[in-house]
Amino acid sequence: MRRLYAPHAYTDAPRAGCFWAPPPDDFPTLEGEAEAEFAIIGGGYAGLSAALELAGRGVSVTLLEAHAPGWGASGRNGGFCCLGGSGFGHGELARALGKTAAGEMIRTERAAIDLVAELLETHAIDADRHSNGEVVLAHRPRAMAGLGEEGEILAAHGIETRLLSKAALTERGMGGPFHGGLHVRAGFALEPGKYARGLARAARLAGADIRAHSPVTRITHKGERFTLATPRGILTARKLIVATNGYSSDDIPPALASRYLPLQSNIIVTRPLGTAEREAAGWSNDTMAYDSRILLHYFRLLPDGRFLFGRRGALTAGPRAQARMRHTVIRHFRRMFPAWKHVEVEHFWSGFVSLAYDRLPHIAPIEGWEGAFAAMNWHGNGVAMATWGGRQVARAALDGAPVPAAMARPLPRFPLGRARRTLLYPALAWYALRDRF
Ligand SMILES: Cc1cc2nc3c(=O)[nH]c(=O)nc-3n(C[C@H](O)[C@H](O)[C@H](O)COP(=O)(O)OP(=O)(O)OC[C@H]3O[C@@H](n4cnc5c(N)ncnc54)[C@H](O)[C@@H]3O)c2cc1C
Repeated sequence: MRRLYAPHAYTDAPRAGCFWAPPPDDFPTLEGEAEAEFAIIGGGYAGLSAALELAGRGVSVTLLEAHAPGWGASGRNGGFCCLGGSGFGHGELARALGKTAAGEMIRTERAAIDLVAELLETHAIDADRHSNGEVVLAHRPRAMAGLGEEGEILAAHGIETRLLSKAALTERGMGGPFHGGLHVRAGFALEPGKYARGLARAARLAGADIRAHSPVTRITHKGERFTLATPRGILTARKLIVATNGYSSDDIPPALASRYLPLQSNIIVTRPLGTAEREAAGWSNDTMAYDSRILLHYFRLLPDGRFLFGRRGALTAGPRAQARMRHTVIRHFRRMFPAWKHVEVEHFWSGFVSLAYDRLPHIAPIEGWEGAFAAMNWHGNGVAMATWGGRQVARAALDGAPVPAAMARPLPRFPLGRARRTLLYPALAWYALRDRF
């Protein structure tokens, strides 16, 4: 496979310290020859949600996952089921796409959250849901103007928001080095591993054939058929959905080469904090939160009192790079919450999100391959959007259901081909500077 990072990033090592429920181990491997109407590559939220939709409508579907369902970002994220999916703030989105297209995106983001809530309920998935929306925290005074604009735009689309002063935050148990915030009453937090497991079981129960430890190493397209080779089997299908996101490979399929850019995101989880410890830091609220930096920090109190804190970054992969990143995330955590300097960090892990050159999520046919579709590039906000994207790509492939125009554009190539990861160096350095000054 032609991947962008060192092989270490694609092993179990980066997810070894993950706090969430592990990926399930009761899905069979593809062996010998098999046939289905639809083949799906990738068993994250996007692939599983597509499989559930197709199987639920009586369509024969086989999903091939390189490891186990939820092994990728879907089983190791921060569990923020929230608005988002593009690489733009909503104000920027309106300026980039125009009001109509931006409005369509915001309505889709909202619908994506509702879809996850519906799936949890319909399939009785207990994923430790909590948190009434999320709070964006101003990391400097002038960030409040941007939060005000964000609030107005969301409110214009029926999403309840409330600007909070620093005093109002403190009163709500959200003390810290913040200058105010915006409470967005959309979304909730969940346990991502449990959600991925629940989705996989629901898809299997609906009739989807899900195969674990079945990495697709080659795809051929002849006539109206796709043939997918794995180390121990071959699957033939009339239609194909690629849902590999940050774990994609430039040759699976070649048409997607250079059209995605994986970036690592990293999380620590502390031991449970006692009531006195939470009071000492002034943080006792379980609402999901992130700060207004471009290289943002995201955090929340978990239902058992542990604290989760995450940050994107790490441009190389390997044991040393991971150790450095663990150290950096802990340093940022302790700088933001000095009262918890003594608190042990019990878990650390990393995984890939995926970015697009046009900063938009992508749900569309794969150019030049009739019958093949891709759903990817959620810009680190895929709990809700990948779930929605998976269902929608299945509907688009099955009966041409529409997708918001901004998500259906041809996927542009990043410059520099397989060296495109180097673009992250100046980009992240520039963002760090802008966050500072
Ligand atoms: C640390 C971290 C924190 C995050 N926090 C949040 C958050 O709080 N909220 C939020 O909304 N989003 C968050 N995200 C992003 C979110 O997790 C992803 O956007 C979402 O899970 C993507 O789902 P997916 O199905 O598209 O891809 P993935 O879940 O990454 O699944 C892709 C799958 O494809 C498989 N695959 C790849 N190539 C092949 C092949 N050739 N053959 C077979 N299988 C293959 C991989 O093994 C993988 O399991 C976070 C991500 C990370 C890494």
